[in-house]
Amino acid sequence: MNTMLSARSLDSLRFDNNFVRQLPADPQPENYRRQVQNACYSRVTPTKVSNPKLVAYSKEVAELLNLSQKECESSTFTELFAGNSLLEDMDPFAMCYGGHQFGSWAGQLGDGRAINLGEIINNQDQRWMLQLKGAGPTPYSRSADGLAVLRSSIREFLCSEAMHHLGIPTSRALSIVTTGELVLRDMFYDGHPKDEPGAVVCRVSPSFTRFGNFEILSARNETDLLKKLIDYTIQTDFPHLGTPSAEVYTAWFKEVCRTTVEMILHWMRVGFVHGVMNTDNMSILGLTIDYGPYGWLEGYDANWTPNTTDAQGKRYSFSNQPHIGQWNLLQLANAIYPVVQQKEPLQEALAMYNDLFQKGWNRMMAEKIGLATFNHNSDDTIIGDLIDILQLVETDMTIFFRKLADISDTDMDTASADPLAPLLDAYYAPDTLPDGYREKMTNWLQSYKMRRAQDNLPQSVRREKMNRVNPKYVLRNYLAQLAIDKAETGDYSMVGELLELLRAPYDEQPENENYAVKRPEWARNRAGCSMLSCSS
Ligand code: AMP
Ligand code: MG
Repeated sequence: MNTMLSARSLDSLRFDNNFVRQLPADPQPENYRRQVQNACYSRVTPTKVSNPKLVAYSKEVAELLNLSQKECESSTFTELFAGNSLLEDMDPFAMCYGGHQFGSWAGQLGDGRAINLGEIINNQDQRWMLQLKGAGPTPYSRSADGLAVLRSSIREFLCSEAMHHLGIPTSRALSIVTTGELVLRDMFYDGHPKDEPGAVVCRVSPSFTRFGNFEILSARNETDLLKKLIDYTIQTDFPHLGTPSAEVYTAWFKEVCRTTVEMILHWMRVGFVHGVMNTDNMSILGLTIDYGPYGWLEGYDANWTPNTTDAQGKRYSFSNQPHIGQWNLLQLANAIYPVVQQKEPLQEALAMYNDLFQKGWNRMMAEKIGLATFNHNSDDTIIGDLIDILQLVETDMTIFFRKLADISDTDMDTASADPLAPLLDAYYAPDTLPDGYREKMTNWLQSYKMRRAQDNLPQSVRREKMNRVNPKYVLRNYLAQLAIDKAETGDYSMVGELLELLRAPYDEQPENENYAVKRPEWARNRAGCSMLSCSS
């Protein structure tokens, strides 16, 4: 058993380690890299670090876990969530999973640098798994070190919380600590490795099970264990579906299709690009997980991906995300088939995905432009034309939709001096808009004005509704990078500022206007702002 921490604090945490209790463990207790068969996880202890320091914690996640401010600011907290000590009831382990990476089966992957500490039951009876990312090697680390650097940890910490406050299903982040150790990384795999500060994030989620957890068992023909994991997942994470049975299996897969569609629609709504939608990064709960080389659209560009590893193929570009979601679900369907043993319902669910996505997209886009409902006769064209026009000149997605909410009927009048004037802030080159563009946008505004008139909504009501789906503040790529630049000098203030800012992304925050502006020119091609890699 693990060593108990001497301090008796944090004993508000109540553990119930269901996953390890119900599913088979790898019998090998030693921590060396290997293929792990006939098991869902391996027990492993986090690696101790020399000098852990708390960078920030999320007060909302602390509340979820019933942790007080005092507890979060204690040295015990920092030691625990750096992986330096364990509470008696923790039972740390790394999960075994496989995955399709960039379209090809990659075999066993697993938690190479994630260690689950245990499951908390909070005082509302909710179940939360605590997981350290970057706390040292595990049997699944393959050729890598099991560590994470400060820059990528800040990106994960801030974005998890930002996504939650945007109303997007996601894993959460409790804390980020620096370890006092240096970690060698070759950021662009181009022969320029550099020592970077190491860090550990404590992620929190009802479950971290991925499509890949099922795929690995299927690929190894471990069908009994596959059934066990499916049944366990349904009973634990989908209890409303009832006792596992043939019908429940297909209802479960349908639900996974539905939650995956919903998650991706949210991403499309706010301009989020995950960057690495491999099946090992797809949560069975439809949560956004594994924040790596993700990014936010600045100029609306359907083909954009922040991930330099994907610069050629653009497999995981913004507009390809819905299609990839379905491709990943197909891999999941293939993986669970040996247990489900019914082809048609799985195929039906996959077909339903297209339908759900299209309906969801229509509804979401109608909301973004402030229409009361989506009307097929007119709105396919209005929305389709807008998406095309947005890509003719570099137009900031976030600013554009906020400005569109402000635009009044008189503003859109062709007789007015410049119908585009209210939108100018959204353009990266407002002074050089081509005439053809002006004409197209002016015409679009005319059709939009006529369509809006049919809804008969007061301007203030429409504006309010639009501002609830179009955020004012997102974790712009360059903002995260500025916080990282500061943090790397030991100043964590901007991490705290952004965490605070992003707690209310839909609100006007007049004192924070500077965080709602377009990407500055210096950030256009800067590493970390527009180009990211999987090296983290
Ligand atoms: P990712 O692309 O970050 O989702 O990672 C893919 C796989 O590589 C997962 O199994 C990770 O756990 C593993 N991995 C990524 N980075 C590291 C690292 N520094 N050390 C060990 N394993 C890693
Ligand atoms: Mg991953």
